[in-house]
Amino acid sequence: MLSLDEWVVSIEGHHNSDSANGDNTNQYHYHMAVKLAKRARWFQIRKYLDDNFGIQVNFSDCHNTYYSAYRYVTKEDNEPLHSSGHPDLIVQNREGKSSLAEFIANRGNKAVDEALQLAKEFAEAESRYKRSKKSRIELLQDEMAGECTDGCEGRWVTAAEELLPCHHIPKDIFCKALFTALSKGRGKYQNVFIHGPANCWKSFILSPLKVIYDMFSNPATGSFAWIGAEQAEIIFLNDFRWDTKIIAWADLLQALEGDTVRLPAPKNVSSRDVELTKDFLPHQTHLWL
Ligand SMILES: [Zn+2]
Repeated sequence: MLSLDEWVVSIEGHHNSDSANGDNTNQYHYHMAVKLAKRARWFQIRKYLDDNFGIQVNFSDCHNTYYSAYRYVTKEDNEPLHSSGHPDLIVQNREGKSSLAEFIANRGNKAVDEALQLAKEFAEAESRYKRSKKSRIELLQDEMAGECTDGCEGRWVTAAEELLPCHHIPKDIFCKALFTALSKGRGKYQNVFIHGPANCWKSFILSPLKVIYDMFSNPATGSFAWIGAEQAEIIFLNDFRWDTKIIAWADLLQALEGDTVRLPAPKNVSSRDVELTKDFLPHQTHLWL
């Protein structure tokens, strides 16, 4: 289900119409900018429009904001068609810019920088807060509704589905193990440990996780190896070699069992130690390669 917050449609004449038989086909085309309630996949929508209405659509992703897409779509049409209750973006933007210009003119650079930083933090705080309320499974589902990362085009899934049977790992068992690790977090029978010879694509099979989650990857060597692990959405130990300088063996076992583990943090950075608390949702999970 695709829901649109706002949309605008405009008509644009072709610069060179080479319609030899003099009819009107292809002398015009339409542009549409849509503001979606949430991310969506376009392939099926493109196919649906073509199959059912014979309308060929191209999707562009070179605009970062609805305003930028809106400006592009309406550049040649003075009377574009708007969704009901569509805000007047041109006027809004002009007013926004003039008050910003006024602010910059009246204050020094430092105040402007501070204001920009604050605005950025406000914007990020809201999305961070929303994210922190979600479970790992919900974050995964959000990602499922979005597009593939650039250059992938579904190839990761195809390759992964070929890779698993090569190593005699049934797909449903692998998926279930990962789902359990992501939903329940660390604990007995919940950790995922992947073992195999060099270059057998162990890292590859879990590589999408670093795109989906805020990941703490391998601890540094040295006494403060685990800084940041307590805030991460998942902990991923890739090519991990146990060393007592990184974590005591007893602590490692406790961590894998899902118990609270306290690991040292430098006192000038943090007043407390890094504390891996009991892994209830939506905290961490641990994956071992
Ligand atoms: Zn992909």
